[in-house]
Amino acid sequence: MVEEFAFDNTEERRKNRQNGTGWVEVIVGSMFSGKSEELIRRLNRARIARQKVQVFKPMIDARYSQEEIASHSGQKHISIPVTTAAELMKKIEPDTQVIGIDEGQFFDLELIEAVNELANAGKRVIIAGLDQDYTGKPFEPMPQLLSTAEYITKIHAICVKCGATANYTQRTVESEQLVEVGAADKYEARCRKCFIPHSDAPTPL
Ligand code: ADP
Ligand code: ZN
Repeated sequence: MVEEFAFDNTEERRKNRQNGTGWVEVIVGSMFSGKSEELIRRLNRARIARQKVQVFKPMIDARYSQEEIASHSGQKHISIPVTTAAELMKKIEPDTQVIGIDEGQFFDLELIEAVNELANAGKRVIIAGLDQDYTGKPFEPMPQLLSTAEYITKIHAICVKCGATANYTQRTVESEQLVEVGAADKYEARCRKCFIPHSDAPTPL
């Protein structure tokens, strides 16, 4: 579990709320690092605080359910599937205070402008996503979101080979498919020493 970051009730955030300013939080790491768990934890806390929450995920992620985000450990949160950042913006209700976005790496680059617009309008936006693809390359739009967000959290999985801190997602099967979403059996968390980058691979994760 990630240590209790001051993401929910700090004086700083209360001040932001008072002057109507929103902000952007980004959660990144490899597959199995606990991004979805951490996102769900923050969203649950916002709901306990009686804030209006809306959660989105890219339509491409058919893992477990179209209407829910889910962690590998079985936690779930209801979500709205969308195909583009523009569609996400259209579905935002005016009184929504907290917006959660999972699998941010599967959104288009317009997501950066969209989340800034939402934060400017006073909303708290939390985006979870892979910061690197299975070749170890930065996975847009997450790197740009990391640069522009107020708060960033990088978390790690455990290397399945040696038990060290895992920073990489190893693809364990050859695939013709562009995206093998949520196919947990086709990926492993690996540390720097155990990760074998397929740098010549033609397609991203
Ligand atoms: P992510 O969204 O980053 O892919 P999830 O939040 O869906 O991660 O899942 C995290 C959970 O996955 C952990 O709490 C743990 O139960 C499980 N898990 C499976 N394999 C690993 C691993 N190699 N390292 C850490 N956690 C793992
Ligand atoms: Zn290792």
